Amino acid sequence: MLTDTHAHLASKQFINDLPAIIARAREAGLTRIICVGTTMEDARRVIEIAETYPEVEATIGVHPCDADSVKDESFIDELRSLAEHPKVVGIGEIGLDYYHQPPEGFTLEAWKAHQAFVLNAQLGLAAELKLNVVLHNRESFDDLTAQVLPWSGKLRGVFHCFTGTAEQALPLIQQGHLVSFTGIVTFKNGQIIQDCAKAMPDDGFMLETDCPYLAPMPHRGQRNEPAYVAKTAAFVANLRGVSLEALAARTSETAHMFFRRLKTQD
Ligand SMILES: [Zn+2]
Repeated sequence: MLTDTHAHLASKQFINDLPAIIARAREAGLTRIICVGTTMEDARRVIEIAETYPEVEATIGVHPCDADSVKDESFIDELRSLAEHPKVVGIGEIGLDYYHQPPEGFTLEAWKAHQAFVLNAQLGLAAELKLNVVLHNRESFDDLTAQVLPWSGKLRGVFHCFTGTAEQALPLIQQGHLVSFTGIVTFKNGQIIQDCAKAMPDDGFMLETDCPYLAPMPHRGQRNEPAYVAKTAAFVANLRGVSLEALAARTSETAHMFFRRLKTQD
């Protein structure tokens, strides 16, 4: 039992060999893959992939780097109807990204405001649909937490590809949110993240690939794929002094509780 909680299976990089990638994931012991969308176009594609493979489920949402693809709140109605699909188990990835330059036609200030608007509209939809959210942060941690934490209790967020400290993660977990670690935790220069992964409560974190990006050691620099979450799991199990089986089962259970439709669980 092992779960990849963040895979961009709709990426162009997987277009030619997705069946083989799913087969390798099964061989590596994966029982669940969360396929994450980044645009409205992507949303249709991730749902299609989830319909094709029984172990794949989808999250849909507009990524902050693609926030310029929506102009006003009308995309929310479209997102709402797509989210009715039974294999949609979350809204994401959504968030804030201050690392990449604003697209043409936006000042930095206007771009940040537009990202905040797109994020907030999607947080509102997630709360309405009782779905949890997958959060992207890049050089925007303070603004992101300021925007997300007021929703605590109404929804839960996973701060995906977490690269912060335990001191930053623990207050989020105390409010019901999660962090998730990619292959970065296995890198030689990953000391801060390793310390953080060691300090997390058993049910406070999940594991992911963020494939096709961020392959763990010994695949660093290559195209990443869901099967490699096993490498990250083995590394984190060793860090925490637990068996791979125990860690895989616990993080999969955490993912199972997080990625689901709360209204059908009542
Ligand atoms: Zn991602």
